[in-house]
Amino acid sequence: MTIEQFQRTIEETYGERDAARGLERTFIWFVEEVGELARALRSESHERKVEEFSDVLAWLTTTASLAGVEMSEAAERFARGCPKCDRSPCECRREGREKDSSPRR
Ligand SMILES: [Zn+2]
Repeated sequence: MTIEQFQRTIEETYGERDAARGLERTFIWFVEEVGELARALRSESHERKVEEFSDVLAWLTTTASLAGVEMSEAAERFARGCPKCDRSPCECRREGREKDSSPRR
């Protein structure tokens, strides 16, 4: 399944309900799911972790749809590696990377 297919499936499955809830309240649900992921990461259960990563991905994706953003376009920023230095592995200086919004890996 591609990122684009995943986003279409999420839209078909939850789009109507999520549109009725609206962007702001849907984003709050997404943040709550991130909190559940934080708890799952401390648990021993692999299944629990998979479930929470899945929920966070679904809520992130539906929030993107409500904001008019294609997740495949968002992912494309990293297609050639780090979007700041265009290298993989990233060669940005550690301190610089931690000040900006790029993920820490
Ligand atoms: Zn970099």
